[in-house]
Parts: sequence; structure tokens; C-alpha cells
Amino acid sequence: MKGFIDDANYSVGLLDEGTNLGNVIDNYVYEHTLTGKNAFFVGDLGKIVKKHSQWQNIVAQIKPFYTVKCNSTPAVLEILAALGTGFACSSKTEMALVQELGVSPENIIYISPCKQVSQIKYAAKVGVNIMTCDNEVELKKIARNHPNAKVLLHIATEDNIGGEEGNMKFGTTLKNCRHLLECAKELDVQIIGVKFHVSSACKESQVYVHALSDARCVFDMAGEFGFTMNMLDIGGGFTGTEFQLEEVNHVISPLLDVYFPEGSGIKIISEPGSYYVSSAFTLAVNIIAKKVVENKFSSGVGKTGSDEPTFMYYMNDGVYGSFASKLSEDLNTIPEVHKKYKEDEPLFTSSLWGPSCDELDQIVENCLLPELNVGDWLIFDNMGADSFHEPSAFNDFQRPAIYYMMSYSDWYEMQDAGITSDTMMKNFFFVPSCIQLSQEDKFSAEA
Ligand SMILES: *Cc1c(COP(=O)(O)O)cnc(C)c1O
Repeated sequence: MKGFIDDANYSVGLLDEGTNLGNVIDNYVYEHTLTGKNAFFVGDLGKIVKKHSQWQNIVAQIKPFYTVKCNSTPAVLEILAALGTGFACSSKTEMALVQELGVSPENIIYISPCKQVSQIKYAAKVGVNIMTCDNEVELKKIARNHPNAKVLLHIATEDNIGGEEGNMKFGTTLKNCRHLLECAKELDVQIIGVKFHVSSACKESQVYVHALSDARCVFDMAGEFGFTMNMLDIGGGFTGTEFQLEEVNHVISPLLDVYFPEGSGIKIISEPGSYYVSSAFTLAVNIIAKKVVENKFSSGVGKTGSDEPTFMYYMNDGVYGSFASKLSEDLNTIPEVHKKYKEDEPLFTSSLWGPSCDELDQIVENCLLPELNVGDWLIFDNMGADSFHEPSAFNDFQRPAIYYMMSYSDWYEMQDAGITSDTMMKNFFFVPSCIQLSQEDKFSAEA
């Protein structure tokens, strides 16, 4: 497509009014259909800008530290750095990525619950001081390897006691906090605050009520030990909808006013991940194989109307690639069929699979789709979080290309917010896109 510089993955096509994400996808589907049908992403960076202004409109008092592990593609990190978010990193690699963008160490927190010693040393060397901790072994490692560490005690919420996060429990109990505070005193480690996390699957307001009163308890306990507590981290788990963020704010803001009032010198931060990126990326995949499963009652016998076949479709991306989060979460996202089909076309029970032929590589267990063919495209939206890991050894399929876009109106909004691409986003090339509307002729020609 003209207007998108192909060899620079930072090039961002600016869309005129009247063109939209759908047109961009149409264009790339057409292009990829001619060049081998590899899967691809389209990233709408304007969505990230919008999420940030939504955050500032609803919970301005809470500073977001974007959780890098959700999507560490350089363009995402660079735009967030320009917007002025902090960054929550789980590893040395993530810290280094963010620092390369010129983000100062005060705007980076180290949130891995299980830290490798060499990475703690790295954090110490580069001046990343704020880190989370939920047990004595970690505290001792921090004491030995990071003289300037400022620790947030990570307390459990009822949410993860239920085993919501894949049976992995992080965060400690109130009782153990007292013990950890004692240890910290002995080890001469500075405790500066409390962190908790409520997963997106559990946004029961009661969980926040308890977590915030527990946090207040720990602040008071820490005060008895002589620690100066000045930071509260309320974790991530925001899906990105305005509604959810408002609900959470509705529950927590009166409690914050009581327990951690403005003027108390306590800084409130958060670790949103999916919130910023989920809706910004759309994935287009191609169907590479198809199996027809005949209804067993009808095999060999004359067909009757009720003995419909079901279909298994294999796509060129799966859980060992962009759908990695499918292995741990059970989100049944139903894709959109890209080709046009008639409203009254019959629908069949279908399942969707990745290319590995592994039985874990199932993306959609059961959905109703018109009959598809090898070479057809499926479009998955909300694919911005947890989709961009390096391919595992299992997967020798090529990783999808990423194409970036932004509407002119989001672009102007960004400029109005004082973010100019020449100073703050040096690696971006914003170029007017020349999308031709109406791709229909092309598609019918190809079919
Ligand atoms: C992944 C992660 C997050 C972000 O979670 P979202 O649900 O994507 O907001 C926040 N904190 C920690 C410690 C994480 O591991």
C-alpha cells in the first residue's frame, strides 16, 4: 500500500476522515492475499492516546505505570513514554527497553514477584529503586543486592486466594506483613508502601474495600516500625472499558479519601496493562486447512436436513504465537469473517485451531460460522495484550507483521496534548495513508 513505509515498522499511516480501521484491514488483506497470506496485526495507536485521556479524565489522581509484559512492542512503549506514563517492568530486558527510550529510573518500578539476583543488581546499577516483594527470601535477596531499594509490600487480595490467577498465589497475608516489616528493619531495607492486584476477572467492589483497609493496616504497622510510607500501588486488571474504570473509581475514591487522603503525601499508582493496549490491536489470520466432520448418524446414509456437518478450521497463528494468552485464559472471542457473505447463508458449528496440530492449540471451541474455505481471512479484535511474545520453539511459523495507523483526529488530539512527534516520538514516521476505498472489485476479482 502506498503511503505506508514498509521497511520501518514505526511508520504510522494517518487516516483521513472517512477511512477507518476496516479500510486499513481490507487493504492489507488484499496485499497479503497476493504475497503468501501471512497473518498480520493492525495497531491503532490513536486508541492508546484515547485510553490515556480516559484514564486522566476518570482517575487523574492515580499515576499509571504501564505493565510492559502485556505488550512491549517498541511503538507502544514509545507512545506511552511520550504520553508520560510510568512503566512497570518484570525483567532486566524490559527495564532496558524502557530506558532506551529515555524514561528516567524514577518512572520505572520492578514488579516481578520472583527476581533473579543478577537482575536485582541490574536494577540497582541503573537506579530503578522501587520494587515489590511478598516474602522473606526475596527481601533477603533485595537486602544483599540493592542498597537503595524502596520496597512495596505486596499483599494478597481475596481475588487471588480463590486461585483466579492460574493457581499462582502472590501477595502475603497481613499477619506475615508484620514479620516482613521486622525482617526489613533488621536487614535495613526501606519499606515505602503497599501493593495489591485485583485481576480483571474479579472486579467485585468488596475486594477493593478489603484490600484498601488491609493496605491502611500495613501502613499503620509500618509506621510503628519507623518506616515512612508514601506509596500505594493498586495493581492492574483494568479491561479498558470506561464503564469498568468508572465503577472501580466509584468504589475506591471515597476509601482513598479516608485512608490515603490528598495532602497525606502518599502517592497512588497503578499497573494497568491490558487497559492501554488490548483494544488497539486487531489480528488478521488466514485459514490454511479445513476438516469436515460429518455428523456420525448421517455417515453413509442419505443426508437429511438435520445431519449437518461441522467444520474444523486451521489458521496460521495459534497459542504458540499470538494467541498465547489462550493457554491460561478462557476468553471465547469469536472472530469476524472477512469475506462478504449473505445474511441468509447457512451457519455451521465450527472450531478454530492454530497451525501446530497440538490439541492445546484450540482458539475457539465452538462457534457458528458460514462455510469457509482455505485462503479465507478471519479478523480477531482486542488482540493487543499478551500477543507479541517471541515465537516459542514449537512454532516455526513466521510472526505476523505489524502495521500502525492513527486517525488524523487522534493525531491532532495528541498534538493538542503537547506531544509532538519530532521531539517525543523520534522513531515514528507519520505519513498520510493513501487507502483506496471500495476494495470490493479487488476481492471479487480474486475470488
Ligand atoms: C500482568 C500484570 C499486570 C497487568 O495486568 P492487566 O490485567 O493486564 O492490567 C499488573 N501487575 C502485575 C504484577 C502483572 O503481572
